[in-house]
Amino acid sequence: MSKENHVKVAIIGAGPAGYTAALYCARADLEPVLFEGMDPGGQLTKAGVVENYPGFYKGAPGMKMMDIFKKQAERFGTTMVPAVVDAVDFSKTPFELTVMGKAITADAVIIATGASARYLGLDSEEAYCYRGVSACATCDGPLYRGKKVVVIGGGDSAMDEAMTLAKFADKVTIIHRRDEFRASKFMQKKTKENPKIETRLSYNVEEVLGDEMGVSGCRIKSAKDGSTEEIPCTGFFLAIGHNPNTGIFKGQIDLDDESFIITKPKSSETNIPGVFAAGDVQDPKYMQAVTSAGTGCMAALDAEHWLLAKE
Ligand code: NDP
Repeated sequence: MSKENHVKVAIIGAGPAGYTAALYCARADLEPVLFEGMDPGGQLTKAGVVENYPGFYKGAPGMKMMDIFKKQAERFGTTMVPAVVDAVDFSKTPFELTVMGKAITADAVIIATGASARYLGLDSEEAYCYRGVSACATCDGPLYRGKKVVVIGGGDSAMDEAMTLAKFADKVTIIHRRDEFRASKFMQKKTKENPKIETRLSYNVEEVLGDEMGVSGCRIKSAKDGSTEEIPCTGFFLAIGHNPNTGIFKGQIDLDDESFIITKPKSSETNIPGVFAAGDVQDPKYMQAVTSAGTGCMAALDAEHWLLAKE
């Protein structure tokens, strides 16, 4: 393998975790190369205003915040590669990554590929994907000005999506399968106070309804008495959590039952020495920009120590 196809630290994924890992690696003279994938900036680019990242005291659009993260990592010498890693081979060292058909080797790898929105898995949901079915209120909300929309889910994301949509839509109905929300009390209070938002608890979605124009409603079924009802809407928004982006790591690294990467307690180490994981790809619990950035920092420090010990 020629030197130009070899890197000291390869970082896969360009969200808060990947950019922070890159910043720390770059400042430690590890000459990191960050593979940005299809969606540089990750999930945060789809968030509206991020108000809970320390330091950004006025809040900042997620897209802008990620651009700042990227510039900071570049300032210290990170090489950004706008390419997708198609496959990895962690069975040998240096580790091998296939990047758009080309083999790259790396002494250490930091995985920060994040997570993607989960769907209910209904055929009708798939049929109307991009024709009314969406998992991103920030991206698609303005299309629903003056319309009726529903949001599925009961966590903070559902509340967040509902509030974003309420800026545009006439009416937002949150449909949740249980009789109580798991969202924080603060977020619940904010949605409750919004006159455009109503909630339907203990209902499951049976089918997304529509015609050649797209979504026209959804049929919901009561979890209490089995009765069904049709809710008219032209937007059907999912906010039911995320699946980790670990497809290319299956069989290469230990994953948990939900396919999140398993890291050792209080560490970013995976079961493969020299391969580290940070951010949502290894965190089914907190999933915050700030915790992702924190674990990105951990991964960079762990990689640095590991490379030093190897030398
Ligand atoms: P959560 O896992 O917190 O919530 C997912 C919701 O979707 C739950 O209410 C769950 O129901 C429901 N759900 C899951 N699967 C299904 C299904 N198949 N059918 C119907 N409903 C389903 O995910 P979130 O994305 O809301 O949040 C992830 C993390 O990000 C959390 O830690 C959250 O606090 C954080 N977050 C914080 C924000 C903020 O502070 N501004 C904004 C957004 C997210 P059930 O409750 O019954 O399990």
